[in-house]
Parts: sequence; structure tokens; C-alpha cells
Amino acid sequence: MTEAAQSWKPSYYNVILTKDGQDLLFNSFTSQMLTINGERREIIEDCLHSLKRTGQYDNTELLEGLVALGFVVSQDVDEFHREHERFGDILSGQEKLMLTIAPTMACNMRCSYCFQRDTPKTKIMSEDMQDGIIEFVRRKAKHSKHLVVQWFGGEPLIAYDAIVRMSKAFKDICQSLDLDYHAEMLTNGMHLTPDRVMSLSSLGVRAIQISLDGVPATYAMRREMPLQRAENFYKFLMDHMQAIVDATGSVTIRINVDRENIDEAKNVVDMFKRHGIIDQRLDFRLGFLNTSRGMVDCIPHDCFSNSEFAQEEHEFRKYLDEQGYMVFGLPKKRDYPCSAVLRNSYTIDPNGGIGKCVPATGTDQSMYAYIYPDDMERTLQEVDAVDVPYGSFDPYGSNSCSNCRLMPVCLGSCPKLHEGKHAFSCSMKEGLERKMGFYNDFHTQRRVSYKG
Ligand code: SF4
Ligand code: SF4
Repeated sequence: MTEAAQSWKPSYYNVILTKDGQDLLFNSFTSQMLTINGERREIIEDCLHSLKRTGQYDNTELLEGLVALGFVVSQDVDEFHREHERFGDILSGQEKLMLTIAPTMACNMRCSYCFQRDTPKTKIMSEDMQDGIIEFVRRKAKHSKHLVVQWFGGEPLIAYDAIVRMSKAFKDICQSLDLDYHAEMLTNGMHLTPDRVMSLSSLGVRAIQISLDGVPATYAMRREMPLQRAENFYKFLMDHMQAIVDATGSVTIRINVDRENIDEAKNVVDMFKRHGIIDQRLDFRLGFLNTSRGMVDCIPHDCFSNSEFAQEEHEFRKYLDEQGYMVFGLPKKRDYPCSAVLRNSYTIDPNGGIGKCVPATGTDQSMYAYIYPDDMERTLQEVDAVDVPYGSFDPYGSNSCSNCRLMPVCLGSCPKLHEGKHAFSCSMKEGLERKMGFYNDFHTQRRVSYKG
């Protein structure tokens, strides 16, 4: 008896993108891209159509190539079902324990676009509360293999001593339970000093994000500080950026832009380049000032629309490439849209409020439990409540996204955008052809590996 020939079909996650006379075949599950212009497109389309009809194709070399890249899959595979199941497993997984901790909501600035500028300022987290969090981690980490902490605020470095104290305790717990540990930090950077830069590595900080607003004059104006102070800070950054990159291995410079300061994003890149900082671990990106995630009702800025911002991002990517910088951000398969949907991920504010949505830390949005330093059983009961915010988020069941062939690289974007009070708008598809065309060229020319 002869064995039946294997049958194949085109992947559900193939997308053909056309821009400026260039055709690209992209698979959102494997993130593979092929330029398929002219005759090449005809041959590949012939193959995919034939597979759809018969499951077979006689050019085995081409077929094997397309299978290896994920553009063709076995007939037996139900990709949608497989990915939906994988998503559910990741959401409920315990392997990684993720905490976003704001050791203070106090900030040394009053950024004109920040929703926290008018929130009541808290003091630095008490040692009692720190001990409560440490105990929470000790109990939770027993079921995990990795602990990831993101230091958030307010400005986390105002509470530097609390960060040092908790980091040491977390590292001790991880060592005793044989867990990996690493931390990340979102900071305005003003409280960095040479000694603190040196300590980032021993604190386990493997990624740091610093936000800027353009040239020092704009920075000073938007953050309500004297120009001299802004200039001193920029000088500090230029002098110490290489040390920060070396200590952490990954630095993101987020330049918050609207229609008024967009031109200054390139000036920031120029400044770093003039100071000889062209490290490939440096990730420049534009920050989109807008209200779409419902954080604030009004910010006094002339904000871009989604499509305008996509165009500006494209121009900025090209500029980074021209200047010899790495361009991060190639859409790749994700495990989750954001940490808010993960069962084992929590935000913790200085008063012990536990929530899910990172930018909402310190507010009552998504807050649903508390750290009770003297009653950890009660804390554990509350965090394991059945009805956890975003706990039932499922882009595979969403009217807006379920049929989307980009699902593996997006997973529905921000869960908040799917809530009733916001009209859903898909920003992922804005300028997608242009974006993928850029990354295809960039990838081909540089043959680099991407951070994502
Ligand atoms: S947000 Fe847009 S790109 Fe993302 S899954 Fe939904 S429809 Fe697709
Ligand atoms: S719910 Fe939206 S705003 Fe909150 S962390 Fe997730 S992506 Fe960000």
C-alpha cells in the first residue's frame, strides 16, 4: 500500500502588500517576507492557487521553500484554532511573573501631555509596603521560571533607595527558587547620576526608556523647567549614553511628538550622532501624543491623526537608516498584545493598589486588588478573583479583529480600544504597505537581526 501524498494549503496568515510598484508576500505568523514582483508573483500565485484547489504542486523545490518560510502549511493544520488555543494558554500561563511597580507617583516634572501631572502626589512607597510586595513575589514566584519587573512612576528614580532595596530582595528570591530575573525602567532620566548609571547592571536593569521632547528649549518649555537645566540634562545624556547602553544592553529614546515639534525628532538623532553615539542597541522611536487609549480627556497639544503619525514614523525610520542607526519595530509574532491581559502580570502603585493596565498605574482604572502587607492571604484571594480586568479579552472572538490576517503580529492591539466607550480604530494597518516595504529593504540591505 502506498502512503498518501502530503497535502498542502496556503497559510491563512499570508498577506500581499503592494506599494510603489513593489509586491511583498508577508506571513504574519512567521514574519517572513518575499519580494514577489512580475513573473515571480505569477509563479508563486500559481503555486498557492494550485495548493488551494488540489493540495499539490509539482515544483517541489518551490513548494519546500514556501513551506520552510511558512507561506504554505499542511492541510491538516487549523492555524486559527491553533493560534487561538496558544493565546489562551499564554494568558493563563504562570511561567513568567511580571510586575510593573511604581515606587512613587511623585514626579520631578510637569510634562504638558502627562495625565499624571495633576494626579495627587504620593510619597515614596513605605518599607512596610515594599515588604508586602516582596512577600507577594515570594509566594507567586514559586510557580514561575522568570520574574520581570518594570520600574514605573511618577518618576521611579525619585525612589531610588526603594528600587535598590526591592531589587536586592527580588534577586535573592530568584536565586533561592532558581528563577531568571531582569528589570526594565521607564524614566525621564533627570535623576540619573554616573553612580546610578553604573548600578543599573547590578540592579538587573536590562532595558531602559528615556523620554525627550525635541531640542532642549522645547524640552524645557514642555516640562516647565529653566532652559539651563534642560541643557545640562541633555549634556549629561550625551556624555553618559554609551555607559547607559553598555550597562543595560538596550536603550529606547522615546521622542514625544505632535504637529509642533515633529521636526525636532531628527534634531535629537543628530545630537546623538554628533556626540559619536551610534550604538546599534539604541532604539529611537516617536511617541504618539494622543488620547486614543482613554487616559485623558484633553491634552493641550496639536496631535497627529493615526494616518499622519504613520507617515511621520515612516519618514523618521528612513532618517534613522540614513544616519546609520538600527531601526527597530518590524512587526513580529507576539505572545500577547500587552501585559494587561496576562493572568500573571500586575501593576502595583505606591499604596499597594494592584491593577492591570500599565499607563493607568496610580489611578483607579483597572485597579482591582491590594497588597495587604499584614494579610497576604487576602491579597492572594483578591488577585485571583474570577473577574479580573481584561481577563476575558479575546481578539479571536472580536468582531473587529477575528478575521484579520495580521492577528499574530497584533493580537487586537490595546484591549482598552475594544471597550464599549471607544469607537474601535485599527492603527496597525495605517501605512502598513509603506512600513513593510521599508523593513524589507532595510532587512535585505543590512542583513541584521531585529530586536522587534
Ligand atoms: S487591531 Fe487591526 S491589525 Fe490588529 S488584529 Fe485588529 S484588525 Fe487586525
Ligand atoms: S490595556 Fe492598552 S493602555 Fe493598558 S497596557 Fe494594555 S495596551 Fe497599554
